[in-house]
Amino acid sequence: MVLIDGKKLAKTIRSNLKKDVDELKKNGIHPKFAVILVGDDPASKIYVRNKNRACEEIGIEYEEYLLKDDVSMEELLSLIDKLNEDKTINGILLQSPLPKHLDINKAFKRINYKKDVDGFNPINVGKLALGQDCFVSCTPYGVIKMLDAYNIPIEGKKAVIIGRSNIVGKPLIQCLLSKNATVTVCHSKTKDIENITKDADIVVTAMGKPKFLKANMVKEGATIIDVGINRMDNGKLCGDVDFENVSEKAGYITPVPGGVGPMTIAMLMENIVKAAKMQNK
Ligand code: NAP
Repeated sequence: MVLIDGKKLAKTIRSNLKKDVDELKKNGIHPKFAVILVGDDPASKIYVRNKNRACEEIGIEYEEYLLKDDVSMEELLSLIDKLNEDKTINGILLQSPLPKHLDINKAFKRINYKKDVDGFNPINVGKLALGQDCFVSCTPYGVIKMLDAYNIPIEGKKAVIIGRSNIVGKPLIQCLLSKNATVTVCHSKTKDIENITKDADIVVTAMGKPKFLKANMVKEGATIIDVGINRMDNGKLCGDVDFENVSEKAGYITPVPGGVGPMTIAMLMENIVKAAKMQNK
């Protein structure tokens, strides 16, 4: 079994991006990223802090906009408009989840697709489906980067994704399809999931169900990518895969933590640098 070390891979990607950013700065281009955080969801605060740290490491300028959880939709949209118009800002990210009274889809749509480094604007979602150059949402992008970095073949392989969220499962369908995998998607209404996963060369779990995928559900030698992040009663993190058992059967497997998580942030950084380059062509 080979452990796919997302932490190490992400570190290499960040260090290459730092070189890119240093080069851009020599040409007077200073990549800048703006994050909007609404309310004080503790998990969101951690995610935002990690993004800030990655920006600091790479040399990307970082601005945070903290909005109270009773902010109106109009106020949120007007902040997005302001950031869209600000030529010094290359990438904008709206941290989810949002308080219930705010329409997240309307907000994502308002972010200029050229600054939409999270890849959630419908224009980027559509471009991804059409196989056009776009900002790919960071977690699926990170999954593909990991498979490529470990030379895991995708073309002609049977890939099964468990989870169909707009941020992970759905964009990952397009990413795997564009690499010529045969893709099956499972969700909460899928019957006999184990019979589907057992046949797969690649299984990606993105469910939020601790240790759901067991050894009897996977094929010997399969590649297992665990997107799930779950906090257990003892405070520790675990994925959607029962790592101890599945790792004995898998050919390649990602750990949690240290797998997809760091890659998601590295891909966000890559998208910001790409945005800065595109906007300063
Ligand atoms: P989500 O929006 O809650 O979607 C979960 C998906 O899993 C849904 O499609 C759901 O099916 C499916 N599902 C739930 N229970 C199932 C079951 N018993 N059998 C089959 N399918 C089931 O979650 P998400 O935002 O995609 O996140 C998924 C997990 O990934 C979470 O643990 C999250 O924390 C983690 N995550 C990690 C990263 C990272 O960087 N590593 C990034 C994003 C998310 P239905 O559609 O039928 O409800």
